[in-house]
Amino acid sequence: MQEREPRVLVTEDAIQDRVAKLARRISKDYEGVESLTLLGVLRGAFIFLADLSRQLTIPRRVDFIALSSYESESTSAGAVRLVLDVRAPLEGQHVLVVEDIVDTGLTLDYLLRTLQARGPKSLKTCVLLEKPERLKVKVPIDYLGFTIPDEWVVGYGLDSGDRYRCLPYIGVVEPQ
Ligand code: IMP
Repeated sequence: MQEREPRVLVTEDAIQDRVAKLARRISKDYEGVESLTLLGVLRGAFIFLADLSRQLTIPRRVDFIALSSYESESTSAGAVRLVLDVRAPLEGQHVLVVEDIVDTGLTLDYLLRTLQARGPKSLKTCVLLEKPERLKVKVPIDYLGFTIPDEWVVGYGLDSGDRYRCLPYIGVVEPQ
């Protein structure tokens, strides 16, 4: 089936420019640290993490976690569960969570509480997009890409029904 071309919200150039700036700031902030664990949240953050990790100039390793929300199930709207865990223990590690988007904030809030209980040396967040209009739980964002309006966005790792993830830009799918 032919995919409908989304309307561009953040261009490829703007994303690449922002990622480079974030990588410079993160590299500076963690200068002298033995190793930084970049913890990507699957699946939406995989492209952001790939680009960001390659631009860092500090020692780093990459790990992944996957979460699933129960939102479609009427019984526990907003609840989140862990469906894939990290490979290496996080205790004593500097951990930077790399997330695609903070919408209601419920996912990141759950994740941070789960990770904090594992005793990392430090725990910070790097989030590509935030939609402040939809926020239900305030979550700390240490490094932010862009603030966007309340629209469903796709591309650069983000999907709509598993489509559009590999677009190089962030766009909005207009109703037919
Ligand atoms: P939360 O509402 O902050 O818990 O966001 C939960 C998850 O929903 C995010 O990590 C994304 O994977 C997904 N999500 C929220 N808004 C969008 C969007 O506009 N496009 C694609 N995925 C989204």
